[in-house]
Amino acid sequence: DVVTRFAPSPTGYLHIGGARTALFNWLYARGRGGKFLLRIEDTDRARSTPEATAAILQGLAWLGLDHDGEVVSQFERAPRHAEVALELLAQGKAYKCFATQEEIEAFRAAAKAEGKSTLFRSPWRDAEASAHPDAPHVIRIKAPLEGKTVIRDEVQGDVTIGNDQLDDMVLLRSDGSPVYMLAVVVDDHDMGVTHVIRGDDHLNNAARQMMIYDAMGWDVPVWAHIPLIHGADGKKLSKRHGALGAQEYQVMGYPAAGMRNYLSRLGWSHGDDEFFTDAQALEWFDLGGIGKSPARFDTKKLENLSGQHIAASDDAALQRELVAFLEAAGLPALTEAQDAALLKAMPFLKERAKTFPELIDKAQFALTSRPVQVDEKAAKALDVENRTLLAQLTPHLQNDSWDRDSLEAKLNDFAERHDTKFGKLAAPLRAALAGRAVTPSVFDMMLVLGPEESLARITDVAT
Ligand code: GLU
Repeated sequence: DVVTRFAPSPTGYLHIGGARTALFNWLYARGRGGKFLLRIEDTDRARSTPEATAAILQGLAWLGLDHDGEVVSQFERAPRHAEVALELLAQGKAYKCFATQEEIEAFRAAAKAEGKSTLFRSPWRDAEASAHPDAPHVIRIKAPLEGKTVIRDEVQGDVTIGNDQLDDMVLLRSDGSPVYMLAVVVDDHDMGVTHVIRGDDHLNNAARQMMIYDAMGWDVPVWAHIPLIHGADGKKLSKRHGALGAQEYQVMGYPAAGMRNYLSRLGWSHGDDEFFTDAQALEWFDLGGIGKSPARFDTKKLENLSGQHIAASDDAALQRELVAFLEAAGLPALTEAQDAALLKAMPFLKERAKTFPELIDKAQFALTSRPVQVDEKAAKALDVENRTLLAQLTPHLQNDSWDRDSLEAKLNDFAERHDTKFGKLAAPLRAALAGRAVTPSVFDMMLVLGPEESLARITDVAT
């Protein structure tokens, strides 16, 4: 059974690259009835913070990337990591190295002067264990001395590294603490991880991690090292390209489904498909569809997909997401009346918004109440002539047939009889109903507001 994991270091928010890595692992596992685990790599005590862990969990929760089981803390597993190092020591696959920092530096300097590899070769590798004095030491793994290591990578293909490139890496420091490379391998093994999908900045680590798998006789997981994300200019994604934190996109009001769709397309493709549902992504996602070259972050494409997901959403579900968005943004909650009006307007509002703030902006007519604030631009449509026109219109709107066809017929008829066009009537009506010059269609607004409220708003500005 497939087991994947996301293993962020809690040193900051969940960035876009991390969110993409988490999503790929989630899609791969969930699409195969497997498990998706979460491990917080908090071994760097100076840089890891509980706030960062909370931010990462919040980001994953927003994106709907739920994990199985408990969140694993790597730091808490240090005793287990040390146990594995000692096991390798007992098996003669690792050794105690007593070389001091000065000795190591002297070795490197001499090697450099002779034009040789500066990888440290410890004199303790083949020393008799009993000869070791009881002095500070590290535990090093015995790296293979000849041959090569092949990393079978699902994205990069076979990556071959000459074993002369590998040194006897330290497993346990002199204070007994395990190194990161050991912790990752032991954790992945103990957690039963079958597939490691992560950024290709970790590809070099894979060769070193394989030494530990081999020494322990453990199965090596399937590797998939995915190219990093670049900005639109082709350079590595950085702050100057704009927002980097996944949560910043939540605050900007992108729906989680749109974000998932967009992130899944960053480095992975399924034919020419751009817009797809979660169900389709789960069905289609595979390692073969991951490209070898870095994906470029494209805000236009994100907006486009986001808009399509908003349009495709079920009204009630969208309403719930909007309410959650308002709350997260610290905006006032909707009143019951606003809630009802918004839901009623949803079918046409959602057709035209790329983000939640855009949708709320278009919904302004439904959220506002009398007296409607008229902005400067809209006020121009409320000159005496137009206000008189509105006053003449109101009696025609009094009767009870308040549906699109009747309203359209009435307004067109009225316009004709007053020797004008409906277009001329629309501007003062927009101003009266919404207080703005740019609004949803007049009919849509009148239908959502209903006869009473619509007429009251028109009467408020009519002369
Ligand atoms: N903690 C590492 C990172 O945040 C990930 C290590 C891994 O996935 O093996 O980059």
